[in-house]
Amino acid sequence: MNKPTVLVTGASRGIGKSIATLFAAKGYYVFLNCRQSFAQLTEVWAELETQYPDSSEIVFGDVGNPDEVRAMFLQIEQSCNGLDVLINNAGISYIGLLSDMTDQSWQDVIQTNLSSSFYCCRAAVPYMVSQKKGKIINISSMWGTAGASCEAAYSASKSGLHGLTRALSKELAPSNIQVNAIACGAIDTSMNNQLSMDERRSLEDDIPVGRFGLPEEIAETAFYLASSHPYLTGQIIGIDGGFL
Ligand code: NAD
Repeated sequence: MNKPTVLVTGASRGIGKSIATLFAAKGYYVFLNCRQSFAQLTEVWAELETQYPDSSEIVFGDVGNPDEVRAMFLQIEQSCNGLDVLINNAGISYIGLLSDMTDQSWQDVIQTNLSSSFYCCRAAVPYMVSQKKGKIINISSMWGTAGASCEAAYSASKSGLHGLTRALSKELAPSNIQVNAIACGAIDTSMNNQLSMDERRSLEDDIPVGRFGLPEEIAETAFYLASSHPYLTGQIIGIDGGFL
């Protein structure tokens, strides 16, 4: 493989799809992952192959399941030995009162949003250490910093991701591997489809820039972090239109 390589988890739509598209356009070989939307992910793969031939490959699997992550990384190693860039993007939201939340819903949010990054980092790091370079980018949320009402599990999972980012950046800095997170504000993807028009307008009123962010704006930040110098590590970078 003579191209740099990147794994984008949750690449079937939204922010992950935009990140995958930008990295393919910039000459990366992109491993595209998602858990359930195989048809949608295949469409993303087909779009990328039309525009940028031999630029991508599907690695299907639930990143909240450690066995499936091991299988994904076996496939990656067979294709290209390992990754230059890991983008932990897959995530789910849960909106509701904490007192109504089931054990299973709590675990689903924590496994998908936080444990997934642990499983993927654990698998990706040995190759990065052996080549003495690598970038890990965690896609997080402003709610991981500020906390959101009725999103306790989601906020806790993203706060955990901030802790993981800061700690791992220190552990891996001597190996020339940089670990950063992007704390997104409200971004225009299907994750926000559950908002009513009134809720959406009220949220827009609270955003100083006056609108939702675009997935492409997060993709550009991720690409900047993937291309940046070794001194930029351990940071939680807010892309939230000035919300916080
Ligand atoms: P989305 O719902 O449009 O896409 C989520 C992607 O993750 C999909 O491809 C889905 O298939 C995948 N996915 C979910 N669970 C998975 C699993 N267990 N294994 C593999 N893939 C899985 O959401 P989005 O808005 O693009 O969100 C992407 C990331 O950005 C998430 O981590 C989310 O928390 C974060 N984020 C989004 C917003 C926003 O307003 N949209 C704000 C802050 C943070």
